[in-house]
Amino acid sequence: MKDCLFCKMASGEIKPDMVLETKELIAFRDINPQAPLHVLVVPRKHITTLNDTIEPDAILVGKMTLTAQEIARNTGVDGSGYRLVMNCNADGGQTVFHIHMHVLGGRQMKWPPG
Ligand code: 5GP
Ligand code: ZN
Repeated sequence: MKDCLFCKMASGEIKPDMVLETKELIAFRDINPQAPLHVLVVPRKHITTLNDTIEPDAILVGKMTLTAQEIARNTGVDGSGYRLVMNCNADGGQTVFHIHMHVLGGRQMKWPPG
């Protein structure tokens, strides 16, 4: 989609600090990390918010979780633990309107989240 930051990263127009790429997904380091490990897992397909996912996207969203698991393993936080976050719309704190999963690790997380 034109003017979407994450679509531009998926197409290669903008080059983030890439961690992993597959046919369907990209994963790259967040520009403003909130933990020692902070990677965003992003589908190449433009989906604006979690509210816009439909049944055929179930496999894609599932693969986002498996990719996050792989990143946690590759960076050695799988045993110590990590947190996956998907923000939706204003109250969820979403700022980029192309769905993505935050993979956060390398420190103790707090609960409840802010
Ligand atoms: P959201 O707030 O929508 O859940 O998450 C968007 C994330 O994208 C934020 O954590 C923000 O730091 C990250 N972000 C925004 N612009 C860029 C960018 O240009 N490059 C990278 N690598 N991350 C970005
Ligand atoms: Zn997009």
